[in-house]
Amino acid sequence: MKIICIGRNYVNHAKELGNAVPTSPVLFIKPETALNATPSFQYPDFSGDIHFELELVLKINKTGKNISLNKADSYYNQIGLGIDFTARDLQTELKTKGLPWEKAKAFDGSAVVSDFISINELENLDEINFELLKNGQSVQKGNSKDMLFNFSNIISYSSKYFTLEEGDLIFTGTPQGVGSIIKNDVLTGSLEGNRLLNVTII
Ligand code: ZN
Repeated sequence: MKIICIGRNYVNHAKELGNAVPTSPVLFIKPETALNATPSFQYPDFSGDIHFELELVLKINKTGKNISLNKADSYYNQIGLGIDFTARDLQTELKTKGLPWEKAKAFDGSAVVSDFISINELENLDEINFELLKNGQSVQKGNSKDMLFNFSNIISYSSKYFTLEEGDLIFTGTPQGVGSIIKNDVLTGSLEGNRLLNVTII
């Protein structure tokens, strides 16, 4: 399986990092070794500034290539929360040099995911509220209605380049409010009030 991630999909987040608002989805991939479904995240020794990015995550349920926009919704039936852990210091250095981001984004354990729920449990996929607490305090609040590219757009566009397969995950981008973590921080994520995610930094 693979993890496809969308960068800069919320205008206010693109702006908080000083990035231009994209005119087509910004894609990158995390490998299977980045997947982390455990309740802890190990702070890597190659970074001094790891950031959390809370995101809605789609789970792909069948193989697809060049998926049309109007069929895209049938390619996922579960949704969850994920944290796209990012070595921001390394990413800034790589971006400045015009180099790929992989070391900063795709390292072992960097894709934390929650349990998934059926999309049938949600009333309106175009307006999903989600929130991240750090040590009990709200740090990120998002709503899927604020995405630049919606789920269908993301699936259709991604499948032009990457064949989607059952079990693949799509991280759909983070809203504003990303920030640093230190050891012993506890991150808690909720989706429409369901507390799905609880991660301790070790
Ligand atoms: Zn992200």
